[in-house]
Amino acid sequence: MSTKHDIRTARLLKWLQDAYAMEQEAETMMKAMASRIEHYPALAARIAQHVQETRNQAQTLRECIHALGGSVPTAKGLVASVGAALHAAGNSMMEDEVVKGIGLSFGFENTEIATYRALILAAERAGATDIAAVCAQILQEEQAMAGWLEQHQDSLVGAFLDREETPGAESKR
Ligand code: MG
Ligand code: FE
Repeated sequence: MSTKHDIRTARLLKWLQDAYAMEQEAETMMKAMASRIEHYPALAARIAQHVQETRNQAQTLRECIHALGGSVPTAKGLVASVGAALHAAGNSMMEDEVVKGIGLSFGFENTEIATYRALILAAERAGATDIAAVCAQILQEEQAMAGWLEQHQDSLVGAFLDREETPGAESKR
């Protein structure tokens, strides 16, 4: 018979594994995006910074998963990465790729925010206060990234629109 604590720990582990796959997806998507940007250096730099944060998040999640006796989901992460690569490739065919990328990223960061908020709750219920603290730290990075995108959206879209109406300037990426 499973105790309440068993159920809570299993839920926490499952969500940590989901989050790990999500971070792999995030890394693939952002790397594809950042490598294509040419004319929006502030966006490229912020994405590059968040790629590094994302790698560290994945490493932290891996440690949490192992601490609970679980294993890192490789297949799920692979599927997520392929999906992300396809999504990024689809975006690259848009003539306003950079604007679509900002919207996609903003949506993704907000999904991450919701994910870590749920994880913090699950970790607290399972009595895993150290994991709750780690997830709260990651949550701050996701909120900072979402906040940056929100703050810079107008200037980035403005720059896109300026370039679009400038003869000889490439606006797409
Ligand atoms: Mg993340
Ligand atoms: Fe993120």
